[in-house]
Parts: sequence; structure tokens; C-alpha cells
Amino acid sequence: MNTPAPTRPIALVTGASSGIGACYADRLARRGHDLILLARDETRLRQQAERIGADSGVAIELLRADLTERRDLERLTARIRDDAAIDLVVNNAGIATPGPLLGADLARVDAMLALNVVAATHVAIASASAFAARGHGTLINIGSVVALLPERFNGAYSGGKAHLLNLSQALEQEAAPHGVRVQAVLPGATRTEIWQRAGVAIASLPAQMLMDVGDLVDAALAGLDQGERVTIPSLPDPAQWERYAQARLALAPDLSRDTPAARYRVAPAAAEPQA
Ligand code: NAP
Repeated sequence: MNTPAPTRPIALVTGASSGIGACYADRLARRGHDLILLARDETRLRQQAERIGADSGVAIELLRADLTERRDLERLTARIRDDAAIDLVVNNAGIATPGPLLGADLARVDAMLALNVVAATHVAIASASAFAARGHGTLINIGSVVALLPERFNGAYSGGKAHLLNLSQALEQEAAPHGVRVQAVLPGATRTEIWQRAGVAIASLPAQMLMDVGDLVDAALAGLDQGERVTIPSLPDPAQWERYAQARLALAPDLSRDTPAARYRVAPAAAEPQA
């Protein structure tokens, strides 16, 4: 009698051909996940898969996809919806557009928004919805600390990462009651190819601000294991984030009212024109 092979949960990683995504693939294989690895560069994906497969023995499927192409994105979200073996998604693929907004190349901004905002949003919503329907699953959204620092980095990039943080927090609130974990990871500057791809020499960044990718991913997974919804791997004191979140929520009762604040009130009669 044939005994069926034991099935392992599948982790799907977008942007797995290099950097943070490749490192997640390695760590998740060591944690006993089979893998689906997605990126555009199939040769590099295959190299990652051979290395990870040799070290861990897990099953690895490769998906060549450009997530800025609508058909590829739809194929991916359908797979996440229909394949019940997928129980963890690392929503990681992203590019950066550094430099000032004034005079920015709008085609590059569009390409970045298509990947970092549109594709990331589709993957996040499709994953959380599928996991909620199945009653379990984990979504990890790779954001950035610049979501909190619009003054310090290209505002279109940081705005996209702020969007992903908002989306994560909203999805977590909706999906957690259905057994779904949603974690937003906010890396600071990390030693990956993203800088070179964006035309920034990594040597120009202060070394004390740059984290190695293995340290980043190990810390983010430790945060996941500790049940964090938002993980900032380099932040020494988690109470700082809690105070920030509480200060934001303390604004809530005053953010929508039926009258303008006193400082905006126009003197009544003086404002009326004479008949
Ligand atoms: P990376 O090494 O350049 O990796 C980016 C990954 O995304 C690659 O696997 C790339 O593979 C894939 N990708 C790019 N365009 C794609 C597309 N159109 N469709 C599908 N996949 C695509 O950079 P990284 O630093 O690891 O970046 C990963 C994530 O971390 C990004 O979301 C980034 O914003 C975020 N992050 C990075 C840092 C940092 O300092 N490194 C800091 C904060 C946040 P292919 O080229 O083969 O498609």
C-alpha cells in the first residue's frame, strides 16, 4: 500500500530572486515550508531554488511573473485563492525611486506604484481573503520605516509604504477574528540590490544605518513568532511604537466633528456682504 507523502504548508514569496525575499525563502524552508518563489528573473530564481533545495530538501516551485503585468498579477491572486496548501505569503516584491519629487521621472514613479502599491495591494487582499475563508494563514507585508518618515526619502516611495502599513493594519483588524495573522515588517536601510538597482551607491549610506539582510529577516520572523502586528527590526524599545500608535488613536475623537475648530470660525456678520 502506498502511503501518501506528508504535505508541508506552502509559503509563497514574491520578489524571491534576491535580497529580502531570497532570504525569507531560505529561512521559511528551514522552518519546514515548501515554497513557491516568484520573480521575473527565472535563472536567478532557479539558482536560489537549487541552493535552498540542496540545504533543506523542501519542494520548490518557481513562478516567473512580472507583477506590473495585469495578467501575471491575476494569475497569482487566482493561485492564492484556489490553492489551499498556501498558508503563508510574503508580499515583498518592490522597487525604489530615490531622489527628489520635483522633476521626478513620472514613468518611473508609475512603474514603482504599479508594483509597490497596486500589485502589493492585490496580493495582500487576495491572501487575507483566502486565509480568512480557510480559517488560517499568515500574510507578511514588507513595508519600510520611511512610511513614518515622509520628510527623509522620496515621498512617492514612502507614500506607497505608508499605504501598505495602513492596509496591513486594516486587514489585520478584519482578518484576525478569522484566524489570520497579518504582520507589517518595516525594514530600515538593508544591504540588498535595491540600492544599486535604483542608482544609489550603497557605500554612500552610513554603515551604522545598514542592516544585513539575514539579521533583518531573522528579526522579522522573531517578531512574527512574538505575535507582533508591526515589526520594526532595528527599534530598540517597542514602547516607542506603542506610544506613537496611541498618540495617533488619541486624535480619533476630534478628527471628524460637526463644527470646524474655533480657530477656523469666521466672525458671523462681518463675513456677510451688505445688500
Ligand atoms: P531587491 O534585492 O532588489 O529585491 C527585489 C525583488 O523584487 C527581486 O526579487 C526582484 O526580482 C523582484 N521584483 C522587482 N520587480 C518585480 C516585478 N515587476 N514583478 C515581480 N517581481 C519583481 O530589493 P530588497 O531590498 O530585497 O526589496 C524587497 C522589499 O523590501 C521591497 O518591497 C522594498 O521596498 C523593501 N525594503 C527594502 C529596504 C532596503 O533597504 N533594502 C528597506 C525597506 C524596505 P526580479 O528582478 O527577478 O523580478
